Amino acid sequence: MAFQGLDYLQFVSLLKEEEIILMGTVRRWVDANVMPVIGEAFQKGEFPEGLAKGLAEMGLIGTTVPEEYDCPEASYVAYGIAMQELERGDSGVRSFCSVQSSLVMYPIYMFGSEEQKRHWLPKMARAEKIGCFGLTEPDHGSNPGGMITRARRDGDYFILNGAKMWITNGSIADVAIVWAKDDDGEIRGFLVERGTPGFSAPETHNKMSLRASVTSELVFDDCKIPAENMLPEAKGLKAPLMCLTSARYGIAWGAIGAAMACYEEALTYSRERKQFARPIAGYQLTQDKLVHMLTEITKMQFMTLQVGRLMDAGKGRHTYISLIKRNNVHHALEIARVARSILGANGITTEYNAIRHMNNLESVYTYEGTHEMHTLILGQDITEIGAFE
Ligand code: FAD
Repeated sequence: MAFQGLDYLQFVSLLKEEEIILMGTVRRWVDANVMPVIGEAFQKGEFPEGLAKGLAEMGLIGTTVPEEYDCPEASYVAYGIAMQELERGDSGVRSFCSVQSSLVMYPIYMFGSEEQKRHWLPKMARAEKIGCFGLTEPDHGSNPGGMITRARRDGDYFILNGAKMWITNGSIADVAIVWAKDDDGEIRGFLVERGTPGFSAPETHNKMSLRASVTSELVFDDCKIPAENMLPEAKGLKAPLMCLTSARYGIAWGAIGAAMACYEEALTYSRERKQFARPIAGYQLTQDKLVHMLTEITKMQFMTLQVGRLMDAGKGRHTYISLIKRNNVHHALEIARVARSILGANGITTEYNAIRHMNNLESVYTYEGTHEMHTLILGQDITEIGAFE
């Protein structure tokens, strides 16, 4: 079935047949499986875990990891399109996939031993095993290189001490990828399985954003793990930053999905809602809002597809991804707020989607490199002068 949706400048004409089919498949799945439950899940502050199996069946987990590990081995554009459609539903559902795919399976594939890959990747692609990625610490967010979590070598083991914070999927994960400094002060990645003595993952409550997503603290108190649980090829901060580049790419696409959902909802509502005996869509001020949303979404689509095509051609750069993450999330958040205003008082409830997207996007603005950090990354790229410190 052909994809139907926001396609003002015939963006879909630039997609391959299989990409259009994927877009339609994920869109229908989200409409059937996410939309009926997401408002209540957000209210309750629960991730609808039942969705994981469906995501795996559609090949949306570990999308770009090779087939030899029972993974889909799809293109970056296909991965992006899937993330767009998932976030049309909810940023929390997309976050689940981003973390499992880009922050857990990607580092195991890139930096893991053959044994680690064979053990984890096929089970993760089927969503039989869930993972999380622990980089951020209570006192080290934008500056992860300052981390204080330590992995001390003790014969055939490492002893982990420290804490990670704001970790997506933390409390439901079977395994955590934990970044810690070794005895030489070098950042290394470790696989820490749930149930390991000295490891706990208490859930973070009272969030007003990404409520349909599990967020947790990871605590390591003399946590003893076998030395073979270290990712052998991950050395230095570059390794976790490469994972974040992959995840940020999916986030940039996801933000388009959230913006589309808000625009479409506001457009429909404004054509039906009458005030002063006319649809509010008939007022110039409303049309200005709708046209602004449409224009920004259309710009995002083309820019983001171009980055995806460059990634698939092996010509991607992390700064390109900073450009689209920064731009798309900024405008998606703005679009969600404007959509909410068009919905009036109805817009403050979860009966409609705009305020849920708006609140979610506040997290998306901050995680995976804050808006400001991406400004600094781009600023350094174009001026060749770093302004981080
Ligand atoms: P800070 O770094 O303290 O920044 C606070 C403010 O200061 C920001 O506006 C920032 O842009 C600004 N700032 C900082 N340094 C500079 C500077 N040099 N110049 C100008 N401005 C600056 N982390 C993980 O490791 N794994 C996860 O799975 C994960 N999931 C998350 C899920 C959610 C819902 C959230 C909210 C966060 C998650 N994070 C995760 C953490 C996230 O990556 C961090 O919150 C982010 O890196 C920012 O760190 P911080 O919150 O400590 O803010």
